[in-house]
Amino acid sequence: MADGIEPQPGILEIALYKGGESKLDGVSNVLKLSSNENPLGPSDAAKEAAARALHGLNRYPTTDHAALRSAISDVWGVDADRVFCGVGSGDVLKLLAEAYAGPGDEIVFTEHGFSMYPIYAHAVGATPVVVPERERVVDVDAILAACGPKTKLVFIANPGNPTGTMIGAAEVARLAEGLPPQTLLALDGAYAEFVEGFDAGKALVDSRENVVMTRTFSKIYGLGGMRVGWGYGPQAVIDVLNRIRGPFNLSTVALAAAEAAVRDTAHTEKCRIENARCRDWMAGALAELGVPSDTSTANFILARFADETEANACDEALRKAGIIVRKVAGYGLPNCLRITVGDEAACRRVVHAIAQFKGVRK
Ligand SMILES: *Cc1c(COP(=O)(O)O)cnc(C)c1O
Repeated sequence: MADGIEPQPGILEIALYKGGESKLDGVSNVLKLSSNENPLGPSDAAKEAAARALHGLNRYPTTDHAALRSAISDVWGVDADRVFCGVGSGDVLKLLAEAYAGPGDEIVFTEHGFSMYPIYAHAVGATPVVVPERERVVDVDAILAACGPKTKLVFIANPGNPTGTMIGAAEVARLAEGLPPQTLLALDGAYAEFVEGFDAGKALVDSRENVVMTRTFSKIYGLGGMRVGWGYGPQAVIDVLNRIRGPFNLSTVALAAAEAAVRDTAHTEKCRIENARCRDWMAGALAELGVPSDTSTANFILARFADETEANACDEALRKAGIIVRKVAGYGLPNCLRITVGDEAACRRVVHAIAQFKGVRK
């Protein structure tokens, strides 16, 4: 590279994000439980809508996303004018960082927070500030103590990834209330739909000026390959995000699929119930084998082992059995493995493999 041609400050600090692996050498019938994908797949209505949209691909998509925002408004009771649609919810979080933080500013998140948060901070030259959790649960006091005049954004996922734990509405409200005046709270609700009756922070967004929530089509809606997410926030924040996004950021196919997916509430409900059933069974069976986990509110569990050596050995044993889960040492959890809740057969296969690893006949 020519001398003097340099990227913006922070960019070379970024360690590339590693997605969940999907292949194992020499193993057929691989079970991928490393990316929190929906084992039941997208709704049929979403697939049909996407297929129909293929016929109109000579035309540009809409730039206002009106039909999708209206569907989201109908289903989630949010004000359509304050819904923002992005290329996955990661895009919404990244645009928030671009719009509100830069060199000299701080972005606060917790020690086991989503590994994209430091990337968003570095990408805009801001300083990531990592605060401790309390036994794998977000600690509001620790976050508030870390916030100061330079803090522009606080990112928390609720439920958390990879912990699967949540904090309650009163705690989230206390966090929003206690932030400095220039700080925006971003509530990442990637797993919100797995929690029955959970508003993911909607009421807080409606009652305050400093809270944004993000949601995704990648998890319960089974559309990770389509790249659609959305945000809900104060009008002023949504107006800012709309200025800096690409005008045609979402394809015709993605818009059609997402609209049909959000309207197919029967499929969403079926996925939520099936996930909870399989998750609770798998967590219970693993606990009986001496592998505990915190009560998960999402579509994965964080299995805890005696130490890093045992976690790595179990990961190796699972790989030999054709099962790919997620190592989370990079999240400060070296003694844990994050296991996505698959369908019932997948959960049985995991429990069987871990029983064999533990030397228990099952
Ligand atoms: C999966 C996930 C997302 C969603 O990413 P998309 O860009 O919407 O696919 C966001 N936050 C967390 C914590 C996640 O686990």
